[in-house]
Amino acid sequence: MNAPRTLSPDTLAAQALGWIAPQHRDLAPTIHPASTFERAADGSYPGGRLYSRDQSPAYDQAETLLAALEGGHQALLFPSGMAAATALVQALEPGARVLAPHAMYWGLRNWLQELATRRQIALDFYDNADGEALAAVLRTMPPRLLWIETPANPTWEVTDIAAACAAARAAGTLVAVDSTVPTPLLTRPLALGADFVMHSATKYLNGHSDVVAGALVCREDSPVWQRVRQNRAQGGAVLGPFEAWLLLRGMRTLPLRVRQACASAQRIAETLHGDARVAQVLYPGLPSHPGHAVAAAQMQGGFGGMLSIRVAGGEAAAMAVAGRLQVFKRATSLGSVESLVEHRASVEGPGTLCPPDLLRLSIGIEAVDDLLADLDQALDAPTRMADRRPA
Ligand SMILES: *Cc1c(COP(=O)(O)O)cnc(C)c1O
Repeated sequence: MNAPRTLSPDTLAAQALGWIAPQHRDLAPTIHPASTFERAADGSYPGGRLYSRDQSPAYDQAETLLAALEGGHQALLFPSGMAAATALVQALEPGARVLAPHAMYWGLRNWLQELATRRQIALDFYDNADGEALAAVLRTMPPRLLWIETPANPTWEVTDIAAACAAARAAGTLVAVDSTVPTPLLTRPLALGADFVMHSATKYLNGHSDVVAGALVCREDSPVWQRVRQNRAQGGAVLGPFEAWLLLRGMRTLPLRVRQACASAQRIAETLHGDARVAQVLYPGLPSHPGHAVAAAQMQGGFGGMLSIRVAGGEAAAMAVAGRLQVFKRATSLGSVESLVEHRASVEGPGTLCPPDLLRLSIGIEAVDDLLADLDQALDAPTRMADRRPA
């Protein structure tokens, strides 16, 4: 069934494309737990499927919906965001050069560095927000794959996707965008020229902290995409049917959740900006953010639900604030209905590029006044807490 492309993303998501299962006319999506499918007397497969490792009908609706939301040719689900990202890199030719940003999801950065140490890829880094330096590297030492994450964890630097893609196209470089944080609602990287979009579907797409999943979307078919497909089918790292069903259920409220998170994040960023207890608010929706103009041009409908604050008083004060928050839950991950706080430097450990006084906030869909009151009480005594430490 073709996605009705003229409908808005809100309608596509709310109705999960409006698919109806023929037998009982179910309005809710069906779960497909079958691992195998019956052959006809002549040995053919009238149902069009052979075996669920590579042909599970459990993925069809969520993959088609995600491809429609991203404006892509095809989407593939994976059992985690990392499985999606690593599937794409592993589909490159051995020894391929990958150019990745300094600020990016820590787990993927570590994995890329491991791969480079084993000489399976060559790896270089660029400054997320320095478009001119990036264009110069693409001209002089074109990599096979440019990896973009924008706004980027955990400092929310912004990369100009259209400019980077134009420079990459001239260099014959493929571009992949980790669009976990903006979601297809706020940014559409394929329309800006990217070849692939990656999501940790664990985050906003599912949105309820109860599924680990990932996805890749391509703009068009290609030999690299065929290898991605083949690697999933043969390598066998596949999502379970119940997780796929839960993910689709989560995606149906994606626009509502993202809109609420954006509005609350903007309000919280504006409220804390200039507060003496906070040394800096990092949020692309603030005009003072260095990436604000680019973000305003390439993001529609908001600047995302993620922001970070640098607590006045340093690391100990930041830790104390994280410990005093009550409505915000202290946990890793992001993009769920409940708001989360995390001290990223200690999670990332030695070698982190994250400032030690930084707290990452994932804004959920709670009442924003409850979140503001929680932050206010938690920020109230950080310097006193810091003073209490022995000299
Ligand atoms: C969480 C996350 C990932 C990794 O996804 P998993 O589903 O945890 O494997 C990748 N990129 C970003 C931006 C993330 O937030």
